[in-house]
Amino acid sequence: MNDQAIVIGGGIIGLSTCFEYQEAGFQVTLIDRDPISGATQHAGGMLAPMSEVQYQQSELQGLMKASARLYPDLIRRVRRHTDLPTGYRTNGTLLVGADRADATHLGNLLRHMEFEDAAVDPLTIREARALEPALSPRISKALSIEGDHQLDPRLFARALLDAVISRGAELIQDSVLSIDGHNPCRTLTLASGVRVASKSTVVLAAGLGAAKIPGWFSAKNPLNLRPVYGDIMRVRVPESMQPLISKVVRGFVEDRPVYLIPREDGSLTIGASSREDSPQPRTGAIHDLLRDAIRLVPGIADTEFMEATCGARPGTPDDMPYLGRVGSNLIISTGYFRHGILLAALAAKTAVDLTLEKQTLTYINACNPLRHAPEFSRMTP
Ligand SMILES: Cc1cc2nc3c(=O)[nH]c(=O)nc-3n(C[C@H](O)[C@H](O)[C@H](O)COP(=O)(O)OP(=O)(O)OC[C@H]3O[C@@H](n4cnc5c(N)ncnc54)[C@H](O)[C@@H]3O)c2cc1C
Repeated sequence: MNDQAIVIGGGIIGLSTCFEYQEAGFQVTLIDRDPISGATQHAGGMLAPMSEVQYQQSELQGLMKASARLYPDLIRRVRRHTDLPTGYRTNGTLLVGADRADATHLGNLLRHMEFEDAAVDPLTIREARALEPALSPRISKALSIEGDHQLDPRLFARALLDAVISRGAELIQDSVLSIDGHNPCRTLTLASGVRVASKSTVVLAAGLGAAKIPGWFSAKNPLNLRPVYGDIMRVRVPESMQPLISKVVRGFVEDRPVYLIPREDGSLTIGASSREDSPQPRTGAIHDLLRDAIRLVPGIADTEFMEATCGARPGTPDDMPYLGRVGSNLIISTGYFRHGILLAALAAKTAVDLTLEKQTLTYINACNPLRHAPEFSRMTP
C-alpha cells in the first residue's frame, strides 16, 4: 500500500499540499466540511514577492521569492491533471503613485527593492501610459515589475480540488474536532462523531480554524492566529472597454494602498483593506478602495459592480507562517497571513519534504509552529 497523508483544511494551502503529496506517490485524504470557503475565496491572488516587499522582513521575503520560483512548475503540473482554468497570468505588475508624497514613497521603495536585488524598472508617466493607456495622466510615479504575476485564487483552488479528486484523493466533508493521541497522533475526531485513524502523516492546514482544534501540541494554544479582515470587490468591464488594463496595477493614493487585478473573464478585482474589527464588508472601506482605484484608472467608474466581500487573513504576531513538524506524524501549515496564495507552492513542497525527511529551505526554521509557546519549543523533534 502507498504511504498515506491526511490533510485537514481545503483552502489553497491544504489543496496544494494534497497535490504535492500525490505527486510524491502518497494516497491522500482531505477533510473539510466546506472546501474553498475561507480566506482563499476572497483573495486577490497576486504572486508578488517584489511589490509586496516590506522593510525588515527578509526571512518572509526569502520565503516569498522561493515560492514564486516554484509557481510556474506547479501550474504546469496541475494542468496535467485538470482542464479547469487557473487564471494564471504573467503580464507583470505596475506600481504607481498618485500624488507627490506617494511618488516619494515609491522612490524609497525602489531603493529598498534595488537593495533586495529586485528586477524593477522605473518608467516615465508616458511610458507607463503607453503600457496601460487607461492609467490616469495625473499619476506621479510608476515602476514596472515584470516578475510579479497573478492567478485567480477561486479558479486555482477549484482546479487543485478537481486535480486531487480525479487522482483518487478521498474527500471527507466534515470538520475535525480534535487531534487525539500524544505523539504520534492516532485518531482525528470529526464533528459527525466519526473517528479517523491517523497512523499516517497528518497536516493541519485549516487556516484560522487550526487554532481551534485541540491536540497535545495545543494545550496552551501555541497557534497565535488572529483574523485580519480584508474588504475586496469585483467589477465587470463592459465589452466595449476591454481590456481596461492588462497588468496588475498596485498603487498608493495619499499613502493608502490599493490594487487592481485584471482577470481572464474581463472582470477586475479591486482590493484590499486591512483591519481587525468586524468580518462584514465595511461600507467606508469599499468607498475608499473604489475612490482610490478610480483616481488611478478613471474608467473604473464605468464598470458594472459585481460584488463586495470580506475575507479573514490568518495573521500571526510576527507575520511569519506556522510551518513545521510538531510531532512524529503531525505537520502544522497555517498562518500565511497576506501571502498564502503566493506561499502555497512552498508550503506544499515543504510539508512533503518534512515527511520524507528531505532538507528544507533555511528560512523554514523561522516558521516553527511552536515559537510563540516557549514552554513547548523543546518538544519540537
Ligand atoms: C482580501 C484578501 C486578499 C488577499 N490577497 C492575497 C494575494 O493577493 N496574494 C496572496 O498571496 N495572498 C492573499 N491573501 C491571503 C490568502 O488569501 C491567505 O493567506 C490564504 O488563502 C490562506 O489559505 P489557507 O488554506 O491557510 O486558509 P483558508 O483559505 O482560510 O482555508 C482554510 C480551510 O480550512 C477549513 N477548516 C477550518 N477549520 C476546519 C476544521 N476544524 N476541520 C476541517 N477543515 C477546517 C475551512 O473550511 C477552509 O476551507 C488575501 C487574503 C484576503 C482576505
